[in-house]
Amino acid sequence: MLRPSRAERSLVSQILVLALALFGGLALALALIFGGAFREHAQARTGAEIQTIAASAVQLLSDGLAERRREISVMVQSPTLWREGLDSAGVVALLGRARAVSPNSLWIGVADLQGVIVASTDGLLQGQSVAARPWFRHGLAGPYLGDVHPAVLLEPYLPSPASGDPLRFLDLAAPIQIDGRTVGVLATHLSWDWARQVSERVLPSDAAARGIELLIFDKAGALLYASGGRTAALRAAGQRLRTRPAAAAQPPMPWTERWMDNQEYLATLAPAGAGSPVAEIGWQVVVRAHSGKSFEPARNVLVVAGAAGLATALVLSIAAWFGARRLGSDLAMLTHAANRIEAGHAEVRIPPASSSKEVLGLSRALSRMTQRLIESQADLERQVAARTAELEAANAELAKQARRDPLTGLLNRRGFEPKAQLLFDLALRGGRPLCACMVDADHFKAVNDTHGHAVGDQVLKRIASCLQSRMRRTDLLARWGGEEFVLLLPDTSLEAAGELAEGLRLAIGASTTGAVGRVTVSIGLAQIAPTDRTLQALVERADLALYRAKDMGRNQVSSLAALL
Ligand code: GH3
Ligand code: MG
Ligand code: MG
Repeated sequence: MLRPSRAERSLVSQILVLALALFGGLALALALIFGGAFREHAQARTGAEIQTIAASAVQLLSDGLAERRREISVMVQSPTLWREGLDSAGVVALLGRARAVSPNSLWIGVADLQGVIVASTDGLLQGQSVAARPWFRHGLAGPYLGDVHPAVLLEPYLPSPASGDPLRFLDLAAPIQIDGRTVGVLATHLSWDWARQVSERVLPSDAAARGIELLIFDKAGALLYASGGRTAALRAAGQRLRTRPAAAAQPPMPWTERWMDNQEYLATLAPAGAGSPVAEIGWQVVVRAHSGKSFEPARNVLVVAGAAGLATALVLSIAAWFGARRLGSDLAMLTHAANRIEAGHAEVRIPPASSSKEVLGLSRALSRMTQRLIESQADLERQVAARTAELEAANAELAKQARRDPLTGLLNRRGFEPKAQLLFDLALRGGRPLCACMVDADHFKAVNDTHGHAVGDQVLKRIASCLQSRMRRTDLLARWGGEEFVLLLPDTSLEAAGELAEGLRLAIGASTTGAVGRVTVSIGLAQIAPTDRTLQALVERADLALYRAKDMGRNQVSSLAALL
């Protein structure tokens, strides 16, 4: 697929794509960063909370066991009481009081050395043998604390725990001694429902909703108790304590682990202080928080932050799109104006663009530049026109000069010929008379030689002005070359022309020029003949007549007609 090149994509679409990518990416990055930070914070807070719960549970369990132990040790160390007999009324009353103080002690009883129950709360198991029970065997030797076990003998006599779990006991026992001699064993069966009471005290009320559970394992890792009434279910599922935190961490840090139910939990194991009954019995108290339920708020924050970020990105992108559209329309307007100016519409002005300060500046600069260009073009055109006019005038002057003799101001031969040709053609076609006069200064070379060239020029100018002052308006006068002049006389007969020439000769011969004095002229005259084909033919005849005048002694008029 062909992708449009950058130059083909509009500014608006480029800015929109850029803004979406930039703002969207930023929003997602921020959401991830803040969401992650929030999750870490929630995890740290939950970790601290479950550590506190676990530590409190261990404390309560330790305190409870220690208290029961103290009770037993106080009771067995009353020789006066026991001297009355293991089954005396005083003993029975003491057992009753002890159970009243500790409601979880479901059964308290005394066995004689043969392991037969001789006194007990509510008379339960009285007369029965407990010789095979571990508590009796260990209790004969010294204080005993046994781990949780199902009720064996008492089950039929006692109510089931409120939790619905099967009845289970913890056994505490100690030897009864009189004067250092063992006479029997005192034992307490502590209901394991006590663990539920402890758990209810330490867990927050919303523990179930947040997926927080308290688990107690025995020293072999078997589950003894699970909060929320889940003991039986988890035991049935074979839940054991598998993971143990690094022994180096004291107290151990909460860790995240996927448990047997394939769910992820943040868990903590509370350390039991050395010498505490809990450490002695080897219980391991774990509090775990279900990741999904505990960190749901963090995930919600992530989703909400992400959505808000994307919405903001969208709004910002739309704002950027609007801005870009204004910029784009300004640029299009400037381009349109520039194109029209280029097409020759000098009246078009670059409009001020208002989308931004920079574009306004650009439009003003463009406007000034175009104005300057238009003005300099007009200036250039004016200069060209002026130069053309000057050139034309100069050309006209040149043409004029080309047709004029600079010394006398008369037409030269080039200026003479077209006009003379016209007069010649008119005369020839109209059959009207036309005479040509050739005037030549006599011995002019001698003038130059004697007085210098400049003085000679003065003489030539005087002759020219004399000829000019006497010619008629319709006559055509020109300097033929050197000291020779030609005069064309239209509508003039040879006779009249002879008279005119004679008048000229006399006038020129009469005038003087400074030290030069008089300078005479010889004049040759000729008349147009119907056989003449060219002007040259007429001029040549006048020339012939001039030569004749020279030959005849100069200072005279010679007419060619007279020669024929
Ligand atoms: P002729 O009577 O036979 O005409 O004798 P000429 O001396 O006048 O004739 P020539 O042809 O021998 O000499 C003409 C002289 O005219 C020669 C030349 O120096 C002079 N001349 C021609 N044009 C000019 C000019 O413009 N100024 C000056 N000062 N002298 C000129
Ligand atoms: Mg001459
Ligand atoms: Mg001459």
